[in-house]
Amino acid sequence: MANERTYRGSCFCGAVEIEVKGEPAAAGYCHCSSCRRWSAGPINAFTLWPPSSVAVTRGADQIDTYNKTPHSGRKWCKGCGGHLFTEHPAWNLIDVYAATIPDYPFKPGVHVNYQETVLRIRDGLPKMKDLPGEMGGSGTSVPE
Ligand SMILES: [Zn+2]
Ligand SMILES: [Zn+2]
Repeated sequence: MANERTYRGSCFCGAVEIEVKGEPAAAGYCHCSSCRRWSAGPINAFTLWPPSSVAVTRGADQIDTYNKTPHSGRKWCKGCGGHLFTEHPAWNLIDVYAATIPDYPFKPGVHVNYQETVLRIRDGLPKMKDLPGEMGGSGTSVPE
């Protein structure tokens, strides 16, 4: 669509450039221990896009992938180690880390995997115990 906005991002060193277009299917914060250990931060700010909305525009040969499970293909730059995005084939969605696309006006809607949190956020947004039902979770909400 001609009027879809495009947002650009890159890895830490700039060798890999990506673009996302349109609007994500969902955006929020994940508190799970996998995100914590992979990102080396307490929380991962995620934006989930259909694969057709995400393009690598430069440095595709610099990208490597780590699959701890078949559900997550974690992509990073071989040059700088900077994280780019994670493919979730079972959901047919790609998690582009909000920090990777700084021009995108991040609008979080939910916190997920809050039962694993190490940093409580009292922002009034819904707190899911794990994941929404349509993504294979319990769909249960928990207190902030
Ligand atoms: Zn890099
Ligand atoms: Zn997570």
